[in-house]
Amino acid sequence: MDFNPELNEDQLQIQKWVHDFANDVVRPVASEWDEREETPWPVIQEAAEIGLYSWEFMAEAMMNDPTGLTMPVALEELFWGDAGIGLSIMGSGLAAAGIAASGTPEQVMEWVPQCYGTSDQLMLGAFASSEPDAGSDVAAMRTRAVYEEATDEWVLNGTKTWITNGGIADVHVVVAVVDPELGSRGHASFVIPPNSPGISQGQKFLKHGIRASHTAEVVLSDCRIPGSCVLGGKDKLDERLARVREGKSGNAQAAMQTFESTRPAVGAQAVGIARAAYEYSLEYAKERHQFGRPIIQNQSIAFTLADMAMEIEAARALVWRGAWLGKQRKYKNAEGSMAKLKAGRVAVWSTERAIQILGGYGYVREYPVERWHRDAKIYDIFEGTEQIQQLVISRAISGMRIE
Ligand SMILES: Cc1cc2nc3c(=O)[nH]c(=O)nc-3n(C[C@H](O)[C@H](O)[C@H](O)COP(=O)(O)OP(=O)(O)OC[C@H]3O[C@@H](n4cnc5c(N)ncnc54)[C@H](O)[C@@H]3O)c2cc1C
Repeated sequence: MDFNPELNEDQLQIQKWVHDFANDVVRPVASEWDEREETPWPVIQEAAEIGLYSWEFMAEAMMNDPTGLTMPVALEELFWGDAGIGLSIMGSGLAAAGIAASGTPEQVMEWVPQCYGTSDQLMLGAFASSEPDAGSDVAAMRTRAVYEEATDEWVLNGTKTWITNGGIADVHVVVAVVDPELGSRGHASFVIPPNSPGISQGQKFLKHGIRASHTAEVVLSDCRIPGSCVLGGKDKLDERLARVREGKSGNAQAAMQTFESTRPAVGAQAVGIARAAYEYSLEYAKERHQFGRPIIQNQSIAFTLADMAMEIEAARALVWRGAWLGKQRKYKNAEGSMAKLKAGRVAVWSTERAIQILGGYGYVREYPVERWHRDAKIYDIFEGTEQIQQLVISRAISGMRIE
């Protein structure tokens, strides 16, 4: 199948459906939830009622789409509406992706629906890898998972930090160390079922942007879960660890698999924010008069908008192609990381330029542009920082160890 950036009928319909939801439901309350800095439950509820917040939509968009474009198209529209609310709706997808990446088909069927619940009973998922001393350096992870033969249980201890939906989720997918001797190859992913003993929320973080999305520590203190909750199954894990101990190469780190497969989708979210800022500042520049003419009639403003339009097109092209290559399993030069890196930079730059175009109006909370700028910055940080994307790309293009 060749890469074709022309959306099919289904994708055009989904694009319009999500755009209408973003425009009619999300945008009118975006500022309120940013100020409240709380999970926007009523908006998630509305998303569940139309089927946007559901495992069925995720499955349809991710599994039944050979082009890989449906998800980025939907995410761009939702995050054009608002990134904090968008992440509250899509945060459970990180847990679902973690389960899909490492779980058996039975585990996927059992746990992915529980990351969403139903419109009558909403549930949330969270994916927890990062720790206070192990952000980019996943190998420094300390959270331990120990198997107890007598009870056929895993016992987890440690602290995860910066976790989207952390502590308020029903299902937590946690990456932990099973064999500390093996570094990142001794890690495994676990599902912590709802109401498990020993898991609690630590500090909730107050943030610079995406403030409607809940971010908190997750504390695991003798957290006991059934033996069957290791993703992929214990036999497969034992086989993999045995291979690594014999010096044969094991699978890529569990957490890294999840991050890599989600990167173009994260880039699409950043494109949505950039586009919001571009559209708003374009209209503003046509309306706002200074020195007796619209400010867009000054080349410095018009050329900035021309560059914004071009950069957003470029970022979207990389995101769509990155998503397509991921679907076809044809990555050569870390194109997923390229997409996320470019889109994050474009979002930060475009939102900053949008503030400049609005002048004082861009800097005050009465207008949405300063919020978009605050929201954009996270795209240089989470799901692999700017520098980690550069590291991944430089290793891929050179085939050499770059430190
Ligand atoms: C709002 C928010 C939501 C998040 N959600 C989740 C989540 O749901 N689940 C989860 O597991 N994590 C989550 N994270 C964590 C996020 O993925 C990490 O913050 C990120 O991986 C960076 O880790 P760190 O913050 O520890 O920074 P560090 O790794 O300490 O990096 C600090 C700086 O050093 C640079 N740096 C580090 N190593 C290198 C190197 N080798 N070469 C060059 N530069 C380097 C980095 O690029 C960065 O600029 C979230 C974070 C935030 C802020």
